[in-house]
Amino acid sequence: MNIVVLTGAGISAESGVDTFRASSDPKRMGLWEQYPVEQVATPEGFAADPVLVHHFYNLRRQALATVEPNPAHFALAELQKGLAANGGCLTIVTQNVDDLHERGGAKDVIHMHGELTSTLCSACGWRWHNLDDLSVESVCPSCQTRGGPRPDIVWFGEMPYHMDTIEAHIKACSLFVSIGTSGAVYPAAGYVQMARALGKQTLEINLDASDGSHFFHESRRGKAGTLVPEWVDEILGARDA
Ligand code: NAD
Repeated sequence: MNIVVLTGAGISAESGVDTFRASSDPKRMGLWEQYPVEQVATPEGFAADPVLVHHFYNLRRQALATVEPNPAHFALAELQKGLAANGGCLTIVTQNVDDLHERGGAKDVIHMHGELTSTLCSACGWRWHNLDDLSVESVCPSCQTRGGPRPDIVWFGEMPYHMDTIEAHIKACSLFVSIGTSGAVYPAAGYVQMARALGKQTLEINLDASDGSHFFHESRRGKAGTLVPEWVDEILGARDA
C-alpha cells in the first residue's frame, strides 16, 4: 500500500509548537497573529527589516529545543516502517518547518516550506544545517558574503520546494491523507483535489473543519495525537489481518 500524508502545523500543536492561525481553543493565539505575516514571512518583509525577521526565526529555532514529538509523529514513523516491511511506502510531505517528524523516527520527510534547521545563502544559494542564531552580520561559509545567510524557509510569494517529487508521489499512491492543516495555503491546499482527480481515496484528520474539508471522502475531527495513532492501528491491523 502506498500512502501520501500531508501534515501542517496542527500535528505539532500538541508538542507545544504554535499553529499558524488561532485554533478553536481561544486560549491559544495563533503564532502569526503576534507577528504580521507580511513582516516575517515575505521576501519584502525581510528586505525591509532583516533584524526583526532574523529575531522571529531565531526564536522559532531556539524553541525546537523545548519541544518533543507527540504520539502523532511517532505513529507516522511506525506506519512508515510497517508499510516498508511489506513492500509499501508512506511518504510524509510536511508544510512544517520544525524537525519533529524526523525526531519521531520518520525518514525522507519532504519539507515543502523549508526547515528551521537549515540556512540558505541569498547571495550564492548554498544551504547548510545550522542551529545557531542568524543576524545581519552572519557570513556565508561558502561565498563569505556578510548578511547573505537567511532562514531556509519558503516565504509567501516564493516557490515551494520539491513540487515535482510531491506530485509524482501523489500519482503513485492509493490513499492521500491530510493531517492538521487548515487548507488555506496553496499549493499544498490543492493536493486533495489533485488526488481526487486521479481517483485516489482521501482522508482528513483535523481539529476543526478546514477550508478543504468538503473535498475529502472522509473527515475525522479531533486531536492528531489521538486520531493519528488510532488510524495507524487501523491500517497496520488491516494489513496484519
Ligand atoms: P494552520 O495554522 O493554518 O492550520 C492548522 C490546522 O491544524 C487548523 O485547521 C487547526 O484546526 C488544526 N489543528 C490545531 N491543533 C490540532 C491538533 N491538536 N490536532 C489536529 N489538528 C489541529 O497551519 P498550516 O495549514 O500548516 O499552514 C501554516 C503555514 O505556516 C505552513 O505553511 C507552515 O509552513 C507554517 N507553520 C509551520 C509550523 C511548524 O513548523 N510547526 C508552525 C506554524 C506555521
